Amino acid sequence: MEKFILDENRLKSVEDNYKAIRYRIEESAVKAGRNPDDVRLMAVTKTVESVYINSALDLGADLIGENRVQEYLGKKDELHLDGVEKHLIGHLQTNKVKQIVGEVDMIESVDSVKLAKEISRVSLNKGITTDILVEVNVGREESKSGIYLEGLEELLLEIAEMPSIKIKGLMTIPPICDTDAEVSQYFEAMHQTFIDIRDKKLDNVNMDILSMGMSGDFEAAVANGSNIVRVGSAIFGARKYF
Ligand SMILES: *Cc1c(COP(=O)(O)O)cnc(C)c1O
Repeated sequence: MEKFILDENRLKSVEDNYKAIRYRIEESAVKAGRNPDDVRLMAVTKTVESVYINSALDLGADLIGENRVQEYLGKKDELHLDGVEKHLIGHLQTNKVKQIVGEVDMIESVDSVKLAKEISRVSLNKGITTDILVEVNVGREESKSGIYLEGLEELLLEIAEMPSIKIKGLMTIPPICDTDAEVSQYFEAMHQTFIDIRDKKLDNVNMDILSMGMSGDFEAAVANGSNIVRVGSAIFGARKYF
């Protein structure tokens, strides 16, 4: 294992970045005629060492997102997680469900009946209810996870029948776009779908959370109704993959 050396400059920039992002979220909410308190900032912590994550947590970050089950379980004991909500946002394999259910407050990346069934089964066994978001592949990209929009309602209705699992809303990662105008079309489509489904008042289908927007496009997402933006590199710096 590489020896860990604390980068003081990085620590300082995490603080500055975190405050700047908060400010930009507020600005874009106000500009869109929204209450800034309705938009939550998630600090996305994949590949980030605990000391930098704690810096954001100590500044008041109250929501973190991790992609990988193993990575999260490996570092959670080092994190200042009192009163902090934890979401799993990465693709989840069925065989990892047992390890993560009960460890996080929400699983945002549910995109199949098979995965939902396993979450339901494990949650029931553990005597808890697991909150989830359904992940939508709004750009129909083969390389990405998520259900296509045309299959969404059917999936929601199936999950709604399962015990010990509770639908809270939708999550999406749009295609990489060159302009805000381009990505806004995807965000708009998601927002409209979110509202349409909410208005149908389906049994056991809550549409409270619309999780969309990342470092490059969170302002466009806020302008289009997002209430959780998931920001990683703009807070913690570019990721080093290992
Ligand atoms: C990595 C990741 C993010 C954050 O991406 P950045 O561009 O670094 O802000 C958000 N959502 C998901 C699902 C991710 O995997």
